[in-house]
Amino acid sequence: MVLADLGKRINGAVNSALSNTQDDYATAVDSMLKGIVTALLEADVNISLVSKLRNNIKSKLMESKGKSINNVQTKKLIQKTVFDELCNLVDCHEKEPFKPKKKKTNVIMFVGLQGSGKTTSCTKLAVYYAKRGFKVGLVCADTFRAGAFDQLKQNAIKARIPFFGSYTETDPVKVAEEGITKFKKEKFEVIIVDTSGRHRQEQELFREMIEISRVVKPHQTIMVLDASIGQAAEQQSKAFKESSDFGAIILTKMDGHAKGGGAISAVAATNTPIIFIGTGEHIHDFESFSPKSFVSKLLG
Ligand code: GDP
Repeated sequence: MVLADLGKRINGAVNSALSNTQDDYATAVDSMLKGIVTALLEADVNISLVSKLRNNIKSKLMESKGKSINNVQTKKLIQKTVFDELCNLVDCHEKEPFKPKKKKTNVIMFVGLQGSGKTTSCTKLAVYYAKRGFKVGLVCADTFRAGAFDQLKQNAIKARIPFFGSYTETDPVKVAEEGITKFKKEKFEVIIVDTSGRHRQEQELFREMIEISRVVKPHQTIMVLDASIGQAAEQQSKAFKESSDFGAIILTKMDGHAKGGGAISAVAATNTPIIFIGTGEHIHDFESFSPKSFVSKLLG
């Protein structure tokens, strides 16, 4: 089930409870919860998260047991409780989101599997900060995949963002270090480092992330996650969390037929916020993410 349908199904469950005049309050709440639970599970949200959400909604709503479901205040309470709990699913209540500082070097390192949309998202984020007056540079630290540097270069040229990479150096740690040193010297304020997404062995990839991170000393590490991978998102993000301890997630391909539920589970599994979503292949198909506006949009 795609995300847009999830919103419709949840709304449907809430509305049918609200328009139900036959059942008593508890029965109406139970049948609404059944509808919401089924919809979330079909959208690939992790079962334990769904069960927690169900219990939370139920216990909040049962405090007003005895009221009529058609009471205006009860209707509002039901809508607000469902809304708040859905927000909680995608909100990890991070205290202070990372903000780059002007006139300082801010290094941002990207991690994620090949094909997730890493290089595209690096460029989108570079454009986002350039538009806000930062001097931004892109570093290609992917020496594993032939063509990785060319891809970043083409994106960067199109977006008019200065870039650094090498056709000959095979050590990604060296390239990353050189890129950072060069851009630092030239007083760049935001330096974005793109890394490899594939290796002969997954363990090698994770080792490489640790090594690059050691020399790059990122102020923020972002994992790029393809929203369409469903349940696999949780495992993937846990594995990256162990090696690179990323502090934020960019969720890509939200314009497609993404179920999105897997990504919601990844947020919970790693307790890491989604900060942007990719909504297309174009540089400007990029939106800041906030749990409230996401859930508002979801519910239409
Ligand atoms: P990387 O291997 O992780 O660096 O992934 P790329 O940046 O090369 O992206 C892989 C493919 O996904 C490319 O064809 C991108 O144009 C596409 N892509 C990236 N982000 C999005 C997005 O938000 N929406 C859509 N529809 N396509 C995207």
